[in-house]
Amino acid sequence: MKYALVTGGSRGIGKAVALQLADMGFNILLNYNSNEVAAAEVKKLIEEKGVKAESIKFDVSDRDQTKSTLSNWFLKNPDDQIEVLVNNAGIRKDNLLLWMEDEQWDDVINISLGGFYNVTKAVIGEMIKEKGGRIINIVSLSGLKGMPGQTNYSAAKAAVIGATKALAQEVGRRKITVNAVAPGFISTDMTEDIDEKQFKGLIPLKRFGTAEEVAHLVGFLASPHSSYITGEVISINGGLL
Ligand code: NAP
Repeated sequence: MKYALVTGGSRGIGKAVALQLADMGFNILLNYNSNEVAAAEVKKLIEEKGVKAESIKFDVSDRDQTKSTLSNWFLKNPDDQIEVLVNNAGIRKDNLLLWMEDEQWDDVINISLGGFYNVTKAVIGEMIKEKGGRIINIVSLSGLKGMPGQTNYSAAKAAVIGATKALAQEVGRRKITVNAVAPGFISTDMTEDIDEKQFKGLIPLKRFGTAEEVAHLVGFLASPHSSYITGEVISINGGLL
């Protein structure tokens, strides 16, 4: 059976991506960190679409936990493949660099950049064996242009953009594509403290985006229609530069 693994699938963009990929016929391996109730709700919504859903709890920043959870899954499911990996789990802990706590720096880097490494490392060998796959990394406009108050987040996302381009060149011959999606302001729990009224004037389309709009782009990158696109960063930001 073909699975899509979505990290941070319990809420926001990850939830919308999981539902989109389920609509496209993928069985879903739904990772979350702590929010068991939200993950169970998403699992139910996926199953209502007639595909299989498994929720799988691990902290993407914990290398040993990620490795052992995913290698156990492969052992228990020898006939199943993870055809699509969406590295979506991420957090924000904004502060000016001058005031930044070490923990704010480390947590953001360890989850976004460390999470990319830990999860991709655990899955890539199986994709290579299967001679194909899609890796889609959710990065950010902050990683392309840098945002004041977000040196940690901008650094983590810029690093994942670099890794996307490097990995695409490593695994292209194995028919694995690796791309990044860079959203601007998207209405989710992550941005609930940001006043849309105050910021929408900066955005040519005059509104924040929705998680579903991002999910449609991820769905395209997971579909056969994107088979000749790799190593790209595709922005989805309402025209915000
Ligand atoms: P969100 O609503 O806050 O959801 C975050 C998700 O990540 C939750 O499912 C959470 O799981 C999971 N998560 C957090 N830490 C984790 C960890 N250590 N291990 C595993 N899962 C973890 O965020 P979002 O807005 O959907 O953001 C999703 C991605 O898009 C992030 O990478 C973010 O940086 C990126 N992004 C968002 C925006 C935006 O405007 N919203 C813009 C650009 C990029 P629990 O429910 O278990 O806590």
